[in-house]
Amino acid sequence: MAQGTLYIISAPSGAGKSSLIQAMLKTQPLYDTQVSISHTTRGMRPGEQHGEHYYFVSKQEFETMIEQDAFLEHAEVFGNYYGTSREAIAQVLATGVDVFLDIDWQGAQQIRQKMPSARSIFVLPPSKEELDRRLRGRGQDSEEVIARRMAQAVAEMSHYAEYDYLIVNDDFDLALSDLKTIIRAERLRMGRQKARHDALISKLLAD
Ligand code: GDP
Ligand code: ADP
Ligand code: 5GP
Repeated sequence: MAQGTLYIISAPSGAGKSSLIQAMLKTQPLYDTQVSISHTTRGMRPGEQHGEHYYFVSKQEFETMIEQDAFLEHAEVFGNYYGTSREAIAQVLATGVDVFLDIDWQGAQQIRQKMPSARSIFVLPPSKEELDRRLRGRGQDSEEVIARRMAQAVAEMSHYAEYDYLIVNDDFDLALSDLKTIIRAERLRMGRQKARHDALISKLLAD
């Protein structure tokens, strides 16, 4: 069984990465691709569920987890803690399932160092005006939170070149197709294919 691929996906808030990941999951069989659920200290948005979108924890609980070395990576983003717990990821990858991490550039740098085989994808919006429209259109953050996220957008985007792939999310269907193409191409790499088609290759090469 070949190991699953660990994907890192980053973008300025509002560029559409959660929407792209959710749409991609609907088209991929559940056992092929999973999204890692992060821990966060930010407040729950309307419609969010504990254990589905995030594990919502207090600052104290988060700091205890840091002390226990429970995180593969963690970072402070927009004044809150966010982190990926070690638990689950390694086990899931070992079963051949691809795992997606929706994390910021600081977390991406930590993961690349610890797991050089991870593949990273950066998503850009088509313009600053459209990014602002999408953040407002989502209708889930206060004016103050939106202003803070817009102010951070250029800082996040300045890290785009550290990633393996770049997707501009203008037309949603096209961006989704780009994301699926990346996953498909990674699955066709020799290491994965060799493991998957082991029996066929043995037969073809037998005298
Ligand atoms: P095809 O697309 O008709 O050639 O059929 P496949 O069996 O190759 O693909 C069907 C599904 O499996 C699609 O969702 C693919 O993305 C996925 N898939 C393709 N290759 C692999 C692979 O090597 N491993 C895993 N786990 N899934 C794969
Ligand atoms: P992120 O996870 O990057 O913060 P979201 O996925 O929450 O962003 O998207 C922000 C908003 O923009 C959502 O309301 C979403 O429906 C919308 N959106 C995403 N992609 C597009 C697109 N290509 N065209 C128009 N609106 C989009
Ligand atoms: P949001 O509050 O909009 O869900 O996420 C805000 C930002 O935090 C996004 O840039 C997102 O990628 C990042 N983020 C979410 N979870 C994690 C995580 O586990 N680790 C890191 N480093 N960043 C995260």
